[in-house]
Amino acid sequence: MPVAEQKTEAPKRFTPYEPAPGEEYMNDKQLEHFRQILLGWKQDLMEEVDRTVRHLQEDANNYADPADRATQEEGFSLELRTRDRERKLLKKINETLEKIDEDDYGFCEACGVEIGIRRLEARPTATLCVDCKTLAELKEKQLGG
Ligand SMILES: [Zn+2]
Repeated sequence: MPVAEQKTEAPKRFTPYEPAPGEEYMNDKQLEHFRQILLGWKQDLMEEVDRTVRHLQEDANNYADPADRATQEEGFSLELRTRDRERKLLKKINETLEKIDEDDYGFCEACGVEIGIRRLEARPTATLCVDCKTLAELKEKQLGG
């Protein structure tokens, strides 16, 4: 059973932004840069969702034999998980696009510092700076462990 590649975990196809010296953080040009990254990412993701849905439909048609059913269901749950992940990511991307529209993008939600262009390019939906993110992950580990 093919596993959907996780290639849409991160955006691709963009030229890293080079701010001019002294350029204001998250000015219109930068916001537009990230809007384009997010829109491109969303496009890729929606195409992947289409493929996953088609896959599920094809699988349902192909496995008429009950002997194949276990394999089929394994594949199903895997693809459903993939779909769930895609849906959550899409939601996150849409929320991030709204933040850009409201000119409220690129700052840490916990401490208010600039998240930074390079970090946002790697992870455009990030809402925490590296320090707060690290802290949040530590707390999560402690709670989970
Ligand atoms: Zn922070």
